[in-house]
Amino acid sequence: MSSIDEREIQAIIERVKGRLDRAGSAEGLQAQGDLDEISDLELGDGIFPTIDQAVAAATRAQRQYQRIGLGGRYAVIDAIRASMLEEAERLAHMAHQETGLGRPEDKLIKNRLVATKSPGPEDLEPQAVTGDAGMMVTEWAPFGVVGAITPTTNPTSTIINNTIAVISAGNACVFNVHPNAKKVSAENIRLLNRAIVSAGGPPNLVTAIPTPTIASAQELMHHPDVRVLLVTGGPAVVREALKTDKRAIAAGPGNPPAVVDETAEIQNAARSIVAGASFDNNVICTDEKTTIAVDSIADRLVQEMGKAGAYVLKEHELRKLERVIFDELGPPNKPGVINRAWIGKSAAAILAEIGVQVDTNEIRLVVAEVPNEHSLVWTEQMMPVMPVTRVQSIDQAIDLAVKSEHGFRHTASIHSTNVERITRMAVAMNCSIFVANSSNFAGLGEGGEGFTSFSIASPTGDGLTRPRTFSRERRVTVVGALRIV
Ligand code: NAD
Repeated sequence: MSSIDEREIQAIIERVKGRLDRAGSAEGLQAQGDLDEISDLELGDGIFPTIDQAVAAATRAQRQYQRIGLGGRYAVIDAIRASMLEEAERLAHMAHQETGLGRPEDKLIKNRLVATKSPGPEDLEPQAVTGDAGMMVTEWAPFGVVGAITPTTNPTSTIINNTIAVISAGNACVFNVHPNAKKVSAENIRLLNRAIVSAGGPPNLVTAIPTPTIASAQELMHHPDVRVLLVTGGPAVVREALKTDKRAIAAGPGNPPAVVDETAEIQNAARSIVAGASFDNNVICTDEKTTIAVDSIADRLVQEMGKAGAYVLKEHELRKLERVIFDELGPPNKPGVINRAWIGKSAAAILAEIGVQVDTNEIRLVVAEVPNEHSLVWTEQMMPVMPVTRVQSIDQAIDLAVKSEHGFRHTASIHSTNVERITRMAVAMNCSIFVANSSNFAGLGEGGEGFTSFSIASPTGDGLTRPRTFSRERRVTVVGALRIV
């Protein structure tokens, strides 16, 4: 499924490999079983005992970083890309091992995606205007130190992506990572520092503490030397970040609906939804969480989903499943409370719990036909269980999609060959990402055009975060000169 060209990956690695080898940073433990060999308390290479020390070191590093110029910045980002591509598989296994969420092979795709398609310093191209009054140039300046809070669902891909975006803009970054992913995250941050230093960057440009907690996240969010916050997670952490007096870039939850109408290419729709909703066992915020099908094609769609790697539940199996995956089934048209033990688990493991045995390589998704008001339609389940619900028309489909997305304005998709309907739904959803006729991961640049981001900041309107998001816009105006024609 990966759209990233293997030759492109090799070219990036080769380009900076000499430097990495000299710095000894490409050495490492082999793919699996690494986690146990990493101490919880290992310090160095960006890992400090306290938030205060982590912020102080990053502040010093950011000043040094300013001195290596834009050329130096490009070299640092190149080295990070190469190092992360070399380490992508090991980090994917470790993230899976530590969090128990998702699929290692999908985490590998995510790591490779962010290493190659997160925009670098080229995103900061200055803009110039000249006219009779002279010249004006806009440039992108760093803020200083950015405080970043990361989720357990994409620990390494978020750290890699956030680091490339934040430091491409000339900032330093202090992370408070999710406590359930602290070891792999610390290892990731150590590797990033080694890559930065190997390319002539300062030590400790990216820092963290080894034992993060909610209290340390709060300390980081309120630290006087942190200028900007980048928060990626559920509603609670977004609320906390927005309460501070700092500029906050908040990437919050979603509940992406996928609408399928009667003009769609049904086989493609079914394949796309199964691939998208099962990607990393549905833990990604952009993964499809609900399918809304126009009644006339719903039977065919479900049939095709069955052929594309989904197990379609029978009515009595759905009742059993509800008791397993919900702590509390919500009232009509409201989210329920998900049993967190099943977040990110495989379809095969979830099915086994209700007595259905399937081959984990063949079945990636559980499909359940449910009425519109069922909690599954309204809940961000973050597991490979996809509700399919029927409506009579495209108008009803769009209406339900808007309502069940809860105004998050995060991600939505449509499968339709009618351009007017694609346009109408895109306008109605008003989301940061809207995808037509493919899996939602295409909207992250995986199989679709454009750059990637793993912090999609819908609540604060920043959308897919990139170096510009972490930059101060500055203008210089020269009156009566510097227009040279
Ligand atoms: P989570 O909210 O449990 O944790 C995210 C981070 O916030 C962690 O580091 C956690 O320690 C911290 N945190 C949580 N509550 C806090 C509080 N009260 N004060 C300070 N820090 C706090 O989320 P998760 O389970 O790790 O990730 C899944 C959620 O994140 C989903 O809702 C998903 O949609 C969302 N998410 C959004 C994006 C995006 O780009 N918009 C990306 C990834 C995940």
